[in-house]
Amino acid sequence: MIFFGTKAVGKTIETGSFECPSCNQSTVYKHEQVNKYFTLYFIPLIPLGDLGKQITCTNCNSSFVPNTILNHIESKDAVNSITKKKRNCPLFK
Ligand SMILES: [Zn+2]
Repeated sequence: MIFFGTKAVGKTIETGSFECPSCNQSTVYKHEQVNKYFTLYFIPLIPLGDLGKQITCTNCNSSFVPNTILNHIESKDAVNSITKKKRNCPLFK
């Protein structure tokens, strides 16, 4: 009997740190490219297509849409830089 099918396989593009919305921990994320593969005996052999990218929390293994999480990280940095600017402003001394 031949076992074949398809499977989604994630490949890590980059890693970084973020505050996970699921487990509320400051932890490491994996930015993954997910591809659909044709599998034979559960071994991914032939790439069938691009399923998109995802952010996976290494602490709780929750997956997120990259845009929402990465925007969240960038906006958080932007808020921090604005806060720092305000602190340096003479009016706030
Ligand atoms: Zn998490």
